[in-house]
Amino acid sequence: MRKLLQWAWVHFLYFSGCLWWARFSLSKAGAIVVLTFHRVLEDQTSTNSQDSLIVRGKTFDQLCAYLKSGYQVVSVETSTPGEASKRLKVACTFDDGWEDNYRNALPSIRRHKVPVSIFLCPGHMDQANAFWPERAVAALKTWNEASIDSCIETLKGFTPEQRQRAISALEQGKTPTLMSSDRTMSWQDASEMASAGVRFGSHTMMHEILTNLPLDVARKEMEEAKEAIENRLGTTCSALAYPNGNFSDEIRNLAAELGYRRALATNREVWTETSDAFAVPRFNTYEGNLVNPMGSFSPAMFMYTTVWQGWIKLNKAKMNALFSRRSVKSLRTESGRP
Ligand SMILES: [Zn+2]
Repeated sequence: MRKLLQWAWVHFLYFSGCLWWARFSLSKAGAIVVLTFHRVLEDQTSTNSQDSLIVRGKTFDQLCAYLKSGYQVVSVETSTPGEASKRLKVACTFDDGWEDNYRNALPSIRRHKVPVSIFLCPGHMDQANAFWPERAVAALKTWNEASIDSCIETLKGFTPEQRQRAISALEQGKTPTLMSSDRTMSWQDASEMASAGVRFGSHTMMHEILTNLPLDVARKEMEEAKEAIENRLGTTCSALAYPNGNFSDEIRNLAAELGYRRALATNREVWTETSDAFAVPRFNTYEGNLVNPMGSFSPAMFMYTTVWQGWIKLNKAKMNALFSRRSVKSLRTESGRP
């Protein structure tokens, strides 16, 4: 019911022209919509990854065709916001370096000539079940746990040691089903993708949440990943994606000091000229926010979950700034100061 109501609202915004107006307005403002993908899979049942990480191959291909026909698809590493454009600028990024990016996404990337940046963890290349959330989900499934997503969110706050202990306790006496499709790409896959024009950035060495680590360890995670990618692929690694989007002022400054030119976060906003280049916002994009209730790719859903929500947030921020300037002005006037 909730889905149908949302669909009716999306339809209203689409056919009333509101979504188109938001798109036009963002392109005039020189904003860039940066999308984050993780996994491109045909079969969502043969994985322990959460739904919010998965887009179907067919949907991804249709999205690529749609973006190329109505937007200016740019690279997040070479573009900067601020210049008005005829078509709204959109950039595509992938986090984690899953093997399915090579197997299922690369054909669409090639076919539609879409610039893409993939953020790799050099400490987790060519591994099955490289990341702890898939192991945790497999263990939680054996307990018939209903609130898997909230359990994963809780585990994100743990230190690596605490988390390992918690997952081992969940696995005790059980036989979790790990999936062979849950694996990361090899350097060979990455190298082939680089030859096809795909750019590679850093997602740190081991994908630990940087704000949970001592600063010297966080530094090593960012520094070693950059070096490994540059050495293995023979390219410049100029961009960083913070694991889980978490960063602090210290982490942000470290990224700049280590030679990264920009760093990507996960807050669902549009990238504008006033954004910090070391906190570039992105829209996590997955099957659920790209398809209609019948399961088919829907341009209206894409516009609603990215363009519209980005435009609303940008205007809310502008309104807040305007009101706070006005209230400061009125306070000054009340206190007799100019
Ligand atoms: Zn990640």
